[in-house]
Amino acid sequence: MAHTERLYYTDSYLKEFAASILRIEDDPRGVRIYLDRTAFYPESGGQPSDHGELAGVHLLDVIDEGEEVAHILAHRLAGEAVQGNIDWARRFDHMQQHTGQHILSAAFERAAGYKTVSFHLGAESSTIDLDSDRVGAQQIEAAEELANSVVFENRPVTVSFHSAADVQKLDLRKPTEREGEIRLVEVEGFDLSACGGTHVSRTGGVGIINVRKVERAKGQTRLEFVCGGRALRRARQDFSILSEAARGFSTGLENVPEMIEKQAQEMCNAGKSQQKLAEELAGLEAAQLWQQSTEKNGSRVVRRLYESAEGKRAKLTAHAISKHPGGVALIGVKGIPTALFFAQTPGGKANLSDVLKQTVAKFGGKGGGSRDFAQGGGLPENQIEAALSFAESLLS
Ligand SMILES: [Zn+2]
Repeated sequence: MAHTERLYYTDSYLKEFAASILRIEDDPRGVRIYLDRTAFYPESGGQPSDHGELAGVHLLDVIDEGEEVAHILAHRLAGEAVQGNIDWARRFDHMQQHTGQHILSAAFERAAGYKTVSFHLGAESSTIDLDSDRVGAQQIEAAEELANSVVFENRPVTVSFHSAADVQKLDLRKPTEREGEIRLVEVEGFDLSACGGTHVSRTGGVGIINVRKVERAKGQTRLEFVCGGRALRRARQDFSILSEAARGFSTGLENVPEMIEKQAQEMCNAGKSQQKLAEELAGLEAAQLWQQSTEKNGSRVVRRLYESAEGKRAKLTAHAISKHPGGVALIGVKGIPTALFFAQTPGGKANLSDVLKQTVAKFGGKGGGSRDFAQGGGLPENQIEAALSFAESLLS
């Protein structure tokens, strides 16, 4: 088995390269092409694989097979010599995020003593997991500040190769178990890590490092962050969202939180006054219905049906009727779902819980309650009238 020379190990800025095809194997997606050398980065160590073209053909995937790198294409290529072209915008973005991660992880270790246990470079943002769930907002700010100062100082980021034995003597941020030749990436005077990824050549290339989100779980803290071009795009997006909110409130950006607070308070007040009005209206309606009902053995039974949208009004009215002497409310609500509200003046003659249970036992649905107030629902809509009249027959 041949060994693929990884050109990105020593030059991560190589955008195109010439190589020879050593062999081609079948793959479910087409073919696996093996070259003598490649600048395509295969997914590894949290960094996704490169996109690009080999001999003008779109690359489906790049796979790290240990000694070799496999290039997946939909079909075979003619000839032996090929030219590879890297999707540079994607690669450079990965270089910014990946270098930013080294710096941010080292900053957390230096500023607060937290170690990074894992790293993921996602399509929109990246994450690191720190080895504690007690990472505080001030520590995050301090680490972010330190990381960006290292970016602004534009320190060199260099690559070197060492034997495993030599690496044991060096002070790596995270010890490595790897054997054979080990690739080290150093952010001058700040971080030394074993890494096979692609990085910018000076920290200034990272642009900026911005922590966006914090989640604490299972003894760890997951931090979402963006660097460079992503940070710029997110800042633009934030600005546009905030501007839209400010336009909606006809105010300046800085007043948006205050306006949201104010509107929430107004809505809360409006809700309260609406509830008060609804109760008052139900009281008036109940008084009228009670007045119009006929007294029989000291009771005044009010039977009434409401439309489906009036469930809340129906319930309030039932309660309000029960506040009048001898008042008994048998209220139904049409529509899906149907509802029943039975209420009587406290200590009244009937047991409304029993009345309701017998009614739903006969007509379907379910419900329950106390002696003086019971509610139910789920009856067939065309049975509601019959159910109310049945309930009234149970009262006498
Ligand atoms: Zn790296």
